[in-house]
Amino acid sequence: METIFTKIIKGEIPSYKVAENDDFYAFLDINPLAEGHTLVVPKQAVDYVFDIDDQTLGNMMIFAKKVAIAIKKTIPCKRVGVAIIGLEVPHAHIHLVPINEIQDISFQKEKLKLSSERFAEIAEMIGGEV
Ligand code: 5GP
Repeated sequence: METIFTKIIKGEIPSYKVAENDDFYAFLDINPLAEGHTLVVPKQAVDYVFDIDDQTLGNMMIFAKKVAIAIKKTIPCKRVGVAIIGLEVPHAHIHLVPINEIQDISFQKEKLKLSSERFAEIAEMIGGEV
């Protein structure tokens, strides 16, 4: 299955890459709830996260953990919140969002508008800590 995230992983659509390994890719959400809002996706597209096989899902969470630790080092926050929504893009992904209070991870709130320079800077800072 080809999704917009498959195209991002292949580099056919640009993204602000944070990290990758053989199986997973992490990049900044283009409509972030907070600076550092990152998506972690499996390179092998599966629509629904709980259709992913156990081993891959476990490895995906371990990869997300590494990225979350790097986000926490880079962006001042109390926690890195974790959310899985999947209503928009049919390619399973974990949202990692730096939060200080519950409202910070509300998907109903207005998204941040960041310059491409700021996105690039954030991706590089987080990626440097992974
Ligand atoms: P969900 O599927 O979890 O409901 O939402 C999909 C998320 O992917 C949204 O937060 C949206 O901003 C993000 N997103 C959708 N298209 C793109 C894209 O082309 N590039 C990036 N970086 N993020 C995207």
